[in-house]
Amino acid sequence: MSHDIYLDANATSPVLPAAAGAALDTMRACFGNPSSSHATGLRAKAVLDEARARARRVLGAGPGRVLFTSGATEGIQTAVLSALCALRERRAAGEPVGDLLIYGATEHKAVSESLAHWNRLLGAGFTLCALPVDGAGRHRLDLLRELAPRAAMVCTMAANNETGTISDLDGIAAVLRERAPRAYWMVDCVQALGKLPLDLANTRIDYAPFSGHKLYAPKGIGMLYVRDGAPYTPLIIGGGQEAGQRSGTENMAGIAALGAVLAALEQGDTFRGHQALAAMRERLAAALTEAFPGIVFNTPFELALPTTLNFAVPDLPSKDLLDLFDAAGVRVSAGSACSAAKAAPSYVLQAMGLPAWRTSGAVRLSFGPLATDEFIDEACARIRRCGQAVRRPALTASGLSGAQQGLQQLSFDGRHGWILFDHAAHACIAIDPPAAMATRIAAQMQGSGLRTLAVLGTGADPEGGDARAVLRAALGAAGVDAGTLGWPRDSAAVTLADGSVAAAIAIGDDVLARVSGMDGCSAVYLLGRAPKGRLDAAAVRLVFAGDTASADAGAQALAGLLTGDALLCHGADVGGASCTTLAGLRSAVDGTGEVRQMAPERLEAFLRTHEDAVLVDVREACECDAGSVSLHGRAAQPVPLSRLAEHIGHFLGAPQRPLVFVCRSGKRSARAALCLQRLGHAQAWSLAGGLALAVQFDFDFASL
Ligand code: PLP
Repeated sequence: MSHDIYLDANATSPVLPAAAGAALDTMRACFGNPSSSHATGLRAKAVLDEARARARRVLGAGPGRVLFTSGATEGIQTAVLSALCALRERRAAGEPVGDLLIYGATEHKAVSESLAHWNRLLGAGFTLCALPVDGAGRHRLDLLRELAPRAAMVCTMAANNETGTISDLDGIAAVLRERAPRAYWMVDCVQALGKLPLDLANTRIDYAPFSGHKLYAPKGIGMLYVRDGAPYTPLIIGGGQEAGQRSGTENMAGIAALGAVLAALEQGDTFRGHQALAAMRERLAAALTEAFPGIVFNTPFELALPTTLNFAVPDLPSKDLLDLFDAAGVRVSAGSACSAAKAAPSYVLQAMGLPAWRTSGAVRLSFGPLATDEFIDEACARIRRCGQAVRRPALTASGLSGAQQGLQQLSFDGRHGWILFDHAAHACIAIDPPAAMATRIAAQMQGSGLRTLAVLGTGADPEGGDARAVLRAALGAAGVDAGTLGWPRDSAAVTLADGSVAAAIAIGDDVLARVSGMDGCSAVYLLGRAPKGRLDAAAVRLVFAGDTASADAGAQALAGLLTGDALLCHGADVGGASCTTLAGLRSAVDGTGEVRQMAPERLEAFLRTHEDAVLVDVREACECDAGSVSLHGRAAQPVPLSRLAEHIGHFLGAPQRPLVFVCRSGKRSARAALCLQRLGHAQAWSLAGGLALAVQFDFDFASL
């Protein structure tokens, strides 16, 4: 990949070269303290004054104050503290000030948390009240109208960072003017700078915080506008800088850099205007729609910043989409806080009343007003490539083992299901499919042209019956006549190693035999060749064990039916791995349980001194399609983590041959390395920090 396509501008932006230059200047030539009275100090003071003058003009601050802060979070604290201190005083003087601190339900957490914190710390005793938004994310003005007479302070952002929804500030101002003329009003303007017109002194807004790093200035610098006449209490007291309003020696590098961005805004020839940005959004939306036909955009474009697209794709969790985009060098973010296993739903989208799949599956794509047509061209091309990658057939026969048989792991929320398939026999069997993945699994099974022989459960998952029903329904239930735990009613029989007779289904040259659990409501399935109707212990290659083998008694019960080498596929991790062997379980191979991590800076030398080492890319196949990996001249072999079980025999065939697993962030590769380690592979490594640290993606500012 030639360079990053950075589409996460609402999180932060790169630094404008002119801003970086200005910052460097203040560190090299103009390094003085603006409070010093000598010439060096005076030169620094001139930089400070010029930046502030520009800020005043760009914001339309009129006679209001503009002070430099460390960022919007500080500006928000200062505004909240100022308002609460004034409200306390007014209330102590006998004035009715209202009892509510009203904030939009979709405000950045810095706002609601600051209100709660300062209200508690000052013992102010106000009640916090989240103002609901409508389905487009706009404040419910009807409800504001009702609540406003009780409002002491109102906080409503100018534009939302997750969705780009632009607030109706004129509408809010009208309600406040009429129903809450003395309530203080803070408008978080972080996402507005450079994207919406600002003329603050001609509004009713009392406080407006800004952040430099959302518009091409560095992190750690921001501004706070305070309306002329609005109360002010310093948050930081000390040497009296910023006319005593915010003490501490000024962040001159940050201020100079922000000054350069403000200069670019003022000159008007650096950043794209609304129409050009809206045209870029249209092109991105078209590429996304082509790539993911079921896509739903979470905000109406006409009410949102043109630079933010928030969307969800049915049956594609945001984590999978993020992995896919990242593989293509496209940096986007989940529209919600994303944990390793599953995305926490976005409170912003929840407040808009969107269904669960859209609140937890949301992806945000945001760009800055410096974007060029070439940049958008490349972004669209990569998005389309992601769409092609995601459509590739999933259940393809493995290239590595050369077999026609395959085994796909299906993991969701800590539980594992499996699809066993045989291309020669055109058949597949699903075991413990997670309900949440049913539609996707059905599409994969049908898309691969395979006949479903059975949809089975091991009984490990209490919800398993529902999940199997969902999958059967998604498959149209074709040809699957299900009895207990999904077992087909008309199966054959085989004799197992302990002489017992078990029901069995033929799949290709193998049989899948069912062993009932001791409790009668669980089952374990054994796969292997059964010539003359006998499935000997040594012939069992795979065991779908559910939760049986995780208990000692369960492992012992299996011991008479298979050898220590058969691969056990579990319903949930056992010792950190989704598959193990009885031998591996017994010997607890690596006493420490620590994964062998390889630092990225060691990799080059390691590969040089280990000619036979294999780099194994465990990202999913669609990620590899979106962007393949080659490190230090060695191409990585793709073996998706979800197909690792299928390749384990191959890897264990050469237990001394070094394997270096790689993935995006180092998490999936650590799972793969641990799994192999537990199975006795002596040289299974995980590349620490993943491709993110191993590959130097150069950010090409010129492409913006
Ligand atoms: N408000 C909004 C709308 C934001 O997007 C952010 C940044 O994520 C903040 C406040 C906090 O800004 P800062 O990082 O400058 O403290």
